[in-house]
Amino acid sequence: MPEESGSQHRPELRVLVSEADIRQHVARLAEAVARDHPPGEPLCVVAVMKGALVFLADLVRHLPVPLEIELVNVRSYCGVRRRRRVEILDDVAVLPLRGRHVLLVDCVLDSGRTLAALRREMAAHATASLKTCVLLSKARRRKRALRPDYVGVEIPDVFVVGYGLDYRDRWRHLPYVAALPPTWASEQEPHDR
Ligand code: 5GP
Ligand code: MG
Repeated sequence: MPEESGSQHRPELRVLVSEADIRQHVARLAEAVARDHPPGEPLCVVAVMKGALVFLADLVRHLPVPLEIELVNVRSYCGVRRRRRVEILDDVAVLPLRGRHVLLVDCVLDSGRTLAALRREMAAHATASLKTCVLLSKARRRKRALRPDYVGVEIPDVFVVGYGLDYRDRWRHLPYVAALPPTWASEQEPHDR
């Protein structure tokens, strides 16, 4: 594992999805998206920040279609806890969505609230099509009836970091997806609040 500067205690991270597995999932997802996409039409890829940062960069480099990238900043979590409300920090109304084929991209789908909130806002903008693509899915936790069009891999109901995903802005840079020990997370939280 990469060395880290700073003296913060580092818990044992358990690799859930390796770099090699991620590469395969991304290639397969890109292939499926490209297969369904109307030839010649531009694709508008809208990525949920910051979690989808690394996934976006890999996915678009595998997509053999003309595309544009838009970013939406969203806050869904505080540490390992879900916020009461999903906060969409950017104005979705200014995105050039009208008449466009849109692919909404996030790294992980958990309760479904984040993508459901974004879809709801985007649906008002008369897109030509609106599909969703996630690398990781925790299906057991789904509260919204949101079925993503493209899913990389199902993972258990654990808090994960790496490949763009953070715990309080740490570990986004890890090239794999790893689980935080649940006991460690709950020990940290009371002091962090
Ligand atoms: P949902 O709204 O579907 O419950 O959660 C999706 C959002 O919550 C993602 O955009 C991501 O930012 C965050 N999230 C969900 N599960 C995890 C996780 O295990 N680790 C991290 N770091 N973020 C998560
Ligand atoms: Mg986060």
